[in-house]
Amino acid sequence: MPIDDRGRIVCVTHNDRPMEKQPIFHFLTQAERGPDGGLKVLNSSGMPLHTFVCMTCGYVENYAVVATRELNTKQLYVRCKNENCGREFLSPIQMDEETFRTSELKINQYGCYFCRQTSTYDKEDHFFR
Ligand SMILES: [Zn+2]
Ligand SMILES: [Zn+2]
Repeated sequence: MPIDDRGRIVCVTHNDRPMEKQPIFHFLTQAERGPDGGLKVLNSSGMPLHTFVCMTCGYVENYAVVATRELNTKQLYVRCKNENCGREFLSPIQMDEETFRTSELKINQYGCYFCRQTSTYDKEDHFFR
């Protein structure tokens, strides 16, 4: 995918707009040829992906998660404050547990990945998972 002169990942068409990195992993499912010649989808096998979306046209690009660090270490989550949603999503701010202990993390405005509601999250709203 194109990277502009400011180092931002941009859409192939809207190359003045950075693409939005989705705060959760997606998964490219593996498939193999079944005994009958058709495709057998292996739901638990495949490749974790970072997904980027152009919010103007919906163009999607994926990167394989090559760094094992992001998959193997705990990540910071918050729970959506919208009563009708309440789902956990990956915090846009990430740090290790040691840094978290001494950090301030006050009044962060995040948009929920699921319902898009923006709320304010303080340190006590964050947890590792
Ligand atoms: Zn676009
Ligand atoms: Zn929500």
